[in-house]
Amino acid sequence: RSKTAGRSTHTVFIPEMMEDNKRKLLIANSIASAIKNDEFVVYYQGKVSPNETTVGYEALLRWSSDSLGFVSPAEFIPIAEQSGKILPITKWVLERVCKDFKQLCSLNDSEVTISVNLSAYDIKNLQLVNYIKNLFKKYSVEPRLIEFEVTESAYLENLDMANEFLTQLRDIGSSVALDDFGTGYSSLGYLTQINLNTLKIDKQFVDNLNVSERSTLITKTIIEMAKQLKLQICAEGVETREQAAFLIESGCHQLQGFLFAKPTSLELLLKEKEQLVDLEKNA
Ligand code: C2E
Ligand code: MG
Ligand code: MG
Ligand code: MG
Repeated sequence: RSKTAGRSTHTVFIPEMMEDNKRKLLIANSIASAIKNDEFVVYYQGKVSPNETTVGYEALLRWSSDSLGFVSPAEFIPIAEQSGKILPITKWVLERVCKDFKQLCSLNDSEVTISVNLSAYDIKNLQLVNYIKNLFKKYSVEPRLIEFEVTESAYLENLDMANEFLTQLRDIGSSVALDDFGTGYSSLGYLTQINLNTLKIDKQFVDNLNVSERSTLITKTIIEMAKQLKLQICAEGVETREQAAFLIESGCHQLQGFLFAKPTSLELLLKEKEQLVDLEKNA
């Protein structure tokens, strides 16, 4: 039941822990073949302006594993990060997004921005910037229409390095959003030290709207602060009309959530667009 690890520490293994570790190992060990066997798909979730025009799409990775079934990115991304396997995933997503770029742009009459999530581990690697630049060239992607989403944890370990990486992306014309703002480490101090275009307010704050006067006030204050800092504000996880109305009234520039759009395959987005065009033709 218990094993001696090292000289004086005793680690107790309980069956659930073993199962949990087994699954983690299985996931970590399946990533390379998942890329090779085309098990990953990128879904796109629309973001809208206050008048409900689609202004962008966030690329969200989906994995339907031959052996494990559907695995959520909330589960496999942290495992990929911890096991040093995030870089090939990031590169794969970046290339997929660049390949999809033209068709994504064709979905709307007005210009859209495509957002890609980067892991904290990715931005320690300045070579990735060159990789991105080359992809943009190869697929004729306009850098200014790509946004990179990073979380605060990316800045936590090495602020200078994170700033260098993200400044280089901004130098080629892309924009940078701080994702999940308000969760985790969340220090307002960072906001004065990092070079950002957009603040994405975490779903948690959106969920708390109208729950209590206090939590509503906190969300309102975050939006106010972001406005003062001249940042674009995107609210994530908007699910109700009431939330949307409040966020728009408070000055959010972009809204994202199931109320407006769910993450969807490009294939389906194109089909929906086609059906809409047909409807208009027959009207
Ligand atoms: P995130 O970047 O904060 O993405 C937002 C998550 O909220 C997505 O979950 C999205 O499907 C979900 N969401 C959006 N609107 C709503 C809503 O109205 N209600 C609810 N309940 N959920 C909503 P998803 O796709 O499961 O992704 C989870 C996380 O995994 C992402 O959080 C991101 O941190 C990470 N992730 C996903 N794809 C990638 C990727 O390509 N690269 C990296 N590094 N991370 C990724
Ligand atoms: Mg994101
Ligand atoms: Mg987010
Ligand atoms: Mg979030």
